[in-house]
Amino acid sequence: MTLRVLQLPDPVLKKPAFSADPEDPALQTLIDRMFATLDHHPRCVGLAAPQVGTSLRVIVLDASRVDKPGSRHGRLAMLNPSIVHRSHPRLLREGCLSVPDYTGNVLREDRVEVVGLDRNGGTLRISAHGFEAVVFQHEIDHLDGKLFLDRVSSLETDVFRRKSYG
Ligand code: ZN
Repeated sequence: MTLRVLQLPDPVLKKPAFSADPEDPALQTLIDRMFATLDHHPRCVGLAAPQVGTSLRVIVLDASRVDKPGSRHGRLAMLNPSIVHRSHPRLLREGCLSVPDYTGNVLREDRVEVVGLDRNGGTLRISAHGFEAVVFQHEIDHLDGKLFLDRVSSLETDVFRRKSYG
């Protein structure tokens, strides 16, 4: 079962999400449905729970779905992720299912180390670079109520309209 992806200006997208408890049985269903939703959108590489209306610190991602340079850890679900190290800033174009009509140039770090929990509550530590590192930063921003539009330096020169997602 796929979930509806909320779009701007839905207020849930702007709310900081609550810590996720791996003991919560509803979490497994949520993660399965988030993966199903990710699979449903051909070029979608990541989703955060607030995008599907649940204000919990849960992300799923799969950067290997598109052909872009960087690390490839495949399908990942992470609870309560936090970036413990970041380096190599660069400006990159990105988009979001919750902001379907626009892309934007966002300053991100090319290398990050992310620590959180896997879906069973075990510690998950990932070193990501390139595209996958950007996906982590984008999804973790969603948990803090931030969209890429909040990170562009200028809405006039760094945001671009697009015809359709993908
Ligand atoms: Zn997004």
